[in-house]
Amino acid sequence: RHRRTRQVQPKPPRIGPIPELQVMVNIDTPADLQEALTVAAEGIGLYRTETEILMKGRLLTETEQEARYTEVVKAMAGRPVYIRLLDLGADKAAPWLRLPPEENPALGCRGARLLLSHPEILKDQARALARASIHGPIHVIYPMLTDRDQFHKLRALFDSALAGLPSETLLHGIMFEIPSACLQAGQLFQEIDFGCIGTNDLVQYLFAADRTNNHTGYNALLNHPVLWELIQELAKTAQATAKPLSLCGEVGGNVHFTQKIIAAGIQVVSANPKQVFAVRQAAQRVILKN
Ligand code: PEP
Ligand code: MG
Repeated sequence: RHRRTRQVQPKPPRIGPIPELQVMVNIDTPADLQEALTVAAEGIGLYRTETEILMKGRLLTETEQEARYTEVVKAMAGRPVYIRLLDLGADKAAPWLRLPPEENPALGCRGARLLLSHPEILKDQARALARASIHGPIHVIYPMLTDRDQFHKLRALFDSALAGLPSETLLHGIMFEIPSACLQAGQLFQEIDFGCIGTNDLVQYLFAADRTNNHTGYNALLNHPVLWELIQELAKTAQATAKPLSLCGEVGGNVHFTQKIIAAGIQVVSANPKQVFAVRQAAQRVILKN
């Protein structure tokens, strides 16, 4: 009987950092740090702080949060650390928070909106981040941000929680994952310290295509020219204001998009640790070709 031989994917060579594309990593908990160090990640580009609390089914105390953030900052020893404020709601649902039911959670009280309506959650996290920032700089990412006004409100709440805690080494930036924020990027970049493009949600909201629904053509939309024109515009705006901009959605770790990412003017991506060597290798191929 004819037996098909299984295609074994060759492992990408373990190449170290390359100057053209900085590759940071996404983590969910400090337990992921070892892998980040093994691949010589050039920073933590996205620490999704909600993942652990969604698994545990409860919020972490300020002290528990401080311990986790401190561990990450210390382990990275000066390399950049980007920690995202709790991004709850919709695909990151926390039913135990007992929020009022919603008809359409993806467009409901989630991300930045949820933090504004639950300041006590934001304030605990703000204090934990400030205490951890004594050990090194922390980039604080505001999730699902819609516009400048919302940034002002969240930032004011964040600062009001600190009450004398150190904040000199905290940097404040946003996820560009809602089209209105992208359209207001010029004004936002005047005020934020950095930006991160979240292609997972950006594609969902740009094309009104549910990221969790297999029938929306979501994956094909990742190639849509409108997405890449928008990413290029964001890169230009960031450059004009000399503010760092990274791309941390799943396309960042997908080697099929590395050429498009570089062509759009993005110089920093954040990928899953297992994708780092392949992304560096793909970037090297792109650079050698040009
Ligand atoms: C994104 O939306 O692209 C992103 C990086 O965040 P998450 O996947 O956690 O929504
Ligand atoms: Mg997102």
